[in-house]
Amino acid sequence: AAAPAAQYLSGLNPEQRDAVETLDGPVLVLAGAGTGKTKVLTSRIAHILSMGRARPGEILSVTFTNKAAREMKHRLGIMLGQAVEGMPWLGTFHSIGGRILRTHAELVQLKSNFTVLDTDDQIRLLKQLLQADNIDDKRWPARMLANLIDGWKNRGLTPSQVPSGEAAVFGNGKGGKLYAAYQDRLKTLNAADFGDLLLECIRLFREHPDVLKQYQQRFKYILVDEYQDTNVAQYLWLRLLSQAPGQRVLPEADAPSADSKPTAPLKNICCVGDDDQSIYGWRGAEVDNILRFEHDFPGAKVVRLERNYRSTGHILAAASHLIAHNEGRLGKTLRTEDVDGEKVTVTGSWDSEEEARAIGEEIEQLQREGNKLNDIAILVRASFQMREFEDRFVTLGLPYRVIGGPRFYERAEIRDALAYLRVINSPADDLAFERIVNVPKRGLGDATVQMLHDHARRRRIPLSEAARQVVETDEMKPKARGSLRDLMMSFERWRTQSEVMPHTELAEVVLDESGYTDMWQKDRSADAAGRLENLKELVRSMEEFENLQGFLEHISLVMDREGGADEDAVSVMTLHSAKGLEFDNVFLPGWEEGLFPHQRALDDQGRAGLEEERRLAHVGITRARRRAKLYFATNRRIHGTWNTTMPSRFLDELPAANVEITESKGGSGWGGAGGYGASRFDNVESFGSSYSTPGWQRAQANRSRGGGQGGSGFSEGQSPFGGSSSSRNKRPMTIEG
Ligand code: ATP
Ligand code: MG
Repeated sequence: AAAPAAQYLSGLNPEQRDAVETLDGPVLVLAGAGTGKTKVLTSRIAHILSMGRARPGEILSVTFTNKAAREMKHRLGIMLGQAVEGMPWLGTFHSIGGRILRTHAELVQLKSNFTVLDTDDQIRLLKQLLQADNIDDKRWPARMLANLIDGWKNRGLTPSQVPSGEAAVFGNGKGGKLYAAYQDRLKTLNAADFGDLLLECIRLFREHPDVLKQYQQRFKYILVDEYQDTNVAQYLWLRLLSQAPGQRVLPEADAPSADSKPTAPLKNICCVGDDDQSIYGWRGAEVDNILRFEHDFPGAKVVRLERNYRSTGHILAAASHLIAHNEGRLGKTLRTEDVDGEKVTVTGSWDSEEEARAIGEEIEQLQREGNKLNDIAILVRASFQMREFEDRFVTLGLPYRVIGGPRFYERAEIRDALAYLRVINSPADDLAFERIVNVPKRGLGDATVQMLHDHARRRRIPLSEAARQVVETDEMKPKARGSLRDLMMSFERWRTQSEVMPHTELAEVVLDESGYTDMWQKDRSADAAGRLENLKELVRSMEEFENLQGFLEHISLVMDREGGADEDAVSVMTLHSAKGLEFDNVFLPGWEEGLFPHQRALDDQGRAGLEEERRLAHVGITRARRRAKLYFATNRRIHGTWNTTMPSRFLDELPAANVEITESKGGSGWGGAGGYGASRFDNVESFGSSYSTPGWQRAQANRSRGGGQGGSGFSEGQSPFGGSSSSRNKRPMTIEG
């Protein structure tokens, strides 16, 4: 009889089995989506353990997210039953780096109970340093410096290693010096930022070879998922750990380069990844790490997996065809033995609201047909897109959860904006008042707030009433007093305006006059633009309500519904956080030029940005097991203004044979039949025909010819939208303008 150990092996195909059973020396599994790479890693751990090759604590397994680590633990538990004691080191680079760092904190001038700073703390600290150095925070925002420092840390650069040219881009040449001062300050505060969890760990290993050796000896097996998205710091960290114990440590400045020679026989490291799923280039990931694996780990066994177990035929064909438009790729064959299944659908809607409505109805339909909400996901390109779905789901009473980030109305900038509106609506809302009294900064710090609290408690009045009273006394320093008085006068004014002004307009006025929008506009950090987008989206979402009161009530409902972890619910997340996951039904809204591919990628000169977007599209489609549903709206509000949008070029790049164009069920939209569209837009007729003709397809073809986007491989006849070519010339409006 087969040993129990064989059970997890018998379910694998020969190539997977090879990757699982090759326990000595480096192994790279380079294979497409859904081919079982993650399954190979989990089975490999099970195999190592049941062969007695290592104890759990001698295995290091790195996943991309904490969620993935939990999932792997769960599956491992199932595979092995209760047989194993203890667990492997299973987590993200940062969680494992942090764990090691805590054990040896004193060697890097920290204590083991060091705090990990979040972004806000980080910024506050940097601001202090800028102030101390008399650097104008307006001209040189702390957030910009924070981003630079993160970037350096992602590349494994300590202050002394930052190239002087790069350090010079901030604060008239003071960037490097500030970075060093920041690191010093962190040590004084017994704190580390997120990047330090790896960078300081690398420094620890380099400066204390004995410590490194200890971990090299401990970890007999190293496993890494999503290897295509490792950045330089992660790569260096892995290289250090994967050398045979006691070998010469890489010299300090040895960043990976094509000619850096491995210094020692390398251990049992197994990395799995897919170059077509590298989507974190913008955060410093280097897809080259995977392309260079055989060079870095000589004698590596490279395993390719070609059978996709996840998706049906049409879905896999569509995804493969799409990604074939990228030039910089290794290329691979993928096949499925599954049925063809349903075609990938593409649905056009009049606008994003209709899109959300259509998707809501389809989800209800799927539910009626017996599908679990847990098997349904909506994957968006940009987080602001989530808002419309969240609102729709609340209206429909459909449970949902947002994965990998806060729900729309829980985002910091949205909460801030809502706090202003809540104070206007209800002056006694102390929580809201406290949240924004000093946001943006107006010199009303903790001392002021404390004083207001004391005053309010003594008189049993709300904070804002206390504020109104206190500004009439001389309890406060003149400057703070002036500032608080201004704020209270603004609130008075806004409250008066709220009686006469539409609430959306009021919101704009408030965000503007309070200096809140301005605060983010001056902010040069990478996420500032996204926050401004979210604020615009917030104002837009208010349009659907009659007045401020009604809107705020709706918000409290949205915030209130807090589903449990095991509730049956639709998952909503960005494409980036969907990596590695799979769902029966995947909805992919917003496939429009400027949104997806994102405008930033289009503005980019080279192809790199566009190719990363295409990989993201490929990741999106390959999350689907049975149904992949793509959407585009012809009108979308981006950055607060309505845009007539063009369907994404990625839709053009899908193979006709695997795609079905369907009509939006969400309303009249381009169909031109129902009342909703007609009442709102008087141009429905012409709009309707513009969609049903393949006009945009032709526009796309023209553009891609002009843009030199070679190799699309479609003649018009082949294109999935070429069917109604008779009406091609009747196209009534030009989207391109
Ligand atoms: P991604 O690139 O998206 O991360 P992956 O290569 O890691 O995908 P897995 O998530 O490991 O793929 O596997 C995809 C699906 O296929 C899972 O549901 C997995 O259980 C299943 N699967 C993998 N290998 C086999 C197999 N040999 N037999 C049956 N099912 C399999
Ligand atoms: Mg995987």
